[in-house]
Amino acid sequence: MERYRSIIQQAEQDARPFFSAIGEMAYQNQVKVLESFRHNRIELRHFSQSNGYGYGDLGRDTLDRLFADVFGAEKALVRPQIASGTHALSLCLYALARPGKIILSITGQPYDTLLDTIGGEGDENGEVMTLHRLGTRFIQQELDAQGQIDIALMSRYLQTDDTINMIYIQRSRGYEWRDSLRLAQIKKACDAARALRPHICIVVDNCYGEFVEEAEPLSAGADIIVGSLIKNPGGGLAPTGAYLAGREKYVNMIQYRLTAPGIGAEVGSWPAGYRPFYQGLFLAPHVVGESLKGAVLAARVFELMGLAVLPRYDMPRADIIQSIRFGKKESLLQFCAAVQAASPVDSHVVPEPWAMPGYQHEVVMAAGAFVQGASLELSADAPIKPPYIGYLQGGLTYEHCRYAIESVLRALTGG
Ligand SMILES: *Cc1c(COP(=O)(O)O)cnc(C)c1O
Repeated sequence: MERYRSIIQQAEQDARPFFSAIGEMAYQNQVKVLESFRHNRIELRHFSQSNGYGYGDLGRDTLDRLFADVFGAEKALVRPQIASGTHALSLCLYALARPGKIILSITGQPYDTLLDTIGGEGDENGEVMTLHRLGTRFIQQELDAQGQIDIALMSRYLQTDDTINMIYIQRSRGYEWRDSLRLAQIKKACDAARALRPHICIVVDNCYGEFVEEAEPLSAGADIIVGSLIKNPGGGLAPTGAYLAGREKYVNMIQYRLTAPGIGAEVGSWPAGYRPFYQGLFLAPHVVGESLKGAVLAARVFELMGLAVLPRYDMPRADIIQSIRFGKKESLLQFCAAVQAASPVDSHVVPEPWAMPGYQHEVVMAAGAFVQGASLELSADAPIKPPYIGYLQGGLTYEHCRYAIESVLRALTGG
């Protein structure tokens, strides 16, 4: 038998016991989503299109309430007009940050594309009103040696500097060799922060985290969660958009920043209709489960290949990403090329590194998706820098994941 075949068989056998726990989680989240659909009495008319100002747009307003219900939020904003996760996070920070105050990130450097919003010392001659230029400072403390939130350090910051009025947490790994943060970790940090500062605002970048665990960070004490609809909660069907959800007070501030003070969430139409957003949310728990099974299989396969992976196949997960350390640029490019070639769309295209807007290094991306850049669909990407870590995520079906992983294996083993 070819080497790649025996590896994939062995890996699938080892991974299978973990699939049932993933299935159970998907079931629990499916029940939660369905109950929210029932509770909000979703009907066909909610899928209708709207145009112009969109006053009284029932589909939009009901979708907001549905997301709020599912995520345990007082209020939510779910908008196709928010172009990406970065747009939503930037919107959130601009709405909630205050001059003279400090945002403390307790999970190290935020996702690359936010650095231009945050700004820094180099801003002075620029024209963009970064948070820095508007007078909000950003401090980041690193995760501890175990990759957990350094709660003692956070507490010292909060005790010694009362201009810190916001805590920023990134649940997923981003382009870092670190683990995603489980809900229990986030809860510990929120509890410790609240014990010192009951009214501090806690923002969580929830990208890639939705439906991976049994609840979302609002139940762990966060005030606002933010995420992209072409990742987990769009279920592979949402064509664009992002959401913000949490405490009403903060969501109100954000809605006035999104449109205009006094107008907020009462305008905004969508002529294409809302069905894909509803149906995508309905499918999301299952599709997240499929992609998690794919990630577990990938972890085991590449580990059997002798590569370092994070997380390992038998470790708990709080996001859908699988990191693989290739060590060599050629292997990383082969990996991305094989994932691309195994895609349903643009399979004949060879991904090449390019300077993507908002990223520090050149990035290579395999994204043969039905929705451009959608990464709940199977995708692989990586910044081009040593030690050449590839990030694999998504997969609308486990079968597609397995096919793609098999293709990578064949490419790497010359099978
Ligand atoms: C994807 C992602 C973002 C940014 O979302 P885009 O939709 O790509 O702009 C922010 N934070 C994390 C952790 C992400 O994974």
